[in-house]
Amino acid sequence: MYQPAIDLDAITAIDMHVHIEVDDHGHASLPEPLVAAVSTYFRTDGPRPAVGAVAQYYRERDMAAVVFTVDARTQLKHRPLSSTDIARAAAEHADVLIPFGSVDPRTGEAALELAARLIEQEGVRGFKFHPTVQGFDPSHDEYAPLWGLIERAGVPAIFHTGQTGIGAGTPGGYGLRLGLSNPMLLDPVAADFPDLQIVMASPVGALAGRGAVGGTHKHNTWIDLSGWSPKYFPAELVRYANSVLKRRVLFGTDYPLLTPDRWLRDVAATDLKPDVLPGILKDNAARLLGFAR
Ligand SMILES: [Zn+2]
Repeated sequence: MYQPAIDLDAITAIDMHVHIEVDDHGHASLPEPLVAAVSTYFRTDGPRPAVGAVAQYYRERDMAAVVFTVDARTQLKHRPLSSTDIARAAAEHADVLIPFGSVDPRTGEAALELAARLIEQEGVRGFKFHPTVQGFDPSHDEYAPLWGLIERAGVPAIFHTGQTGIGAGTPGGYGLRLGLSNPMLLDPVAADFPDLQIVMASPVGALAGRGAVGGTHKHNTWIDLSGWSPKYFPAELVRYANSVLKRRVLFGTDYPLLTPDRWLRDVAATDLKPDVLPGILKDNAARLLGFAR
């Protein structure tokens, strides 16, 4: 079972948002047309490393990384990667990796059972959801038992918000609905589950303002800065990150699609204040994940 073994003093950053896209047998998390589309969107044809290679990549940079896949078996009609396997592989690299689980909320009771098993038997430290790719509305009552279970476990849940590269440029965006990733759909979840720590990921673009406003209203909401180069951060988001939300904004990339090297290079050109960066890069995540001393 995974037990974190991260030396906070030895690392410079915790990347809150790293996707595992292939398993050790070469099976991809997404169906083939979506893999091609996302590569075009991010202009990358780079490697899609499995867990061991991701660990090595972050170890070389003195960084830790939260790793997960997205189980969208219902919506994509595609066998997901195994979160159990990811957690077990991460356990072998516990000096740098922190496994999050993924369950498909549309599988109902099975999702609850899998989530409980991932927490109790594999030691996952949180969950990742992608409402657009999984095709569900997080504000809907039928998912409340899942939020309750995660809240009781005391681990955070990351939700993708806003635009996504997955399905971009394919007919009808592969039928995926961006409205499901409107951060306002998380507001009722944050209201009904005040002890559930909710991380809104990639809140850049048209929805950034509303995501940030949610952050000032509900103190169980966080923002991770993944999925976009920092040079595209809207001014409003930077203002919040420099002030009222500086303790609840988190470094995240979307590796392997966006690398930490590029993120760190581009963040230097933003108006993020140097004194808030240590919190964003490491301390806030350490607190959220329960690692802080
Ligand atoms: Zn993501």
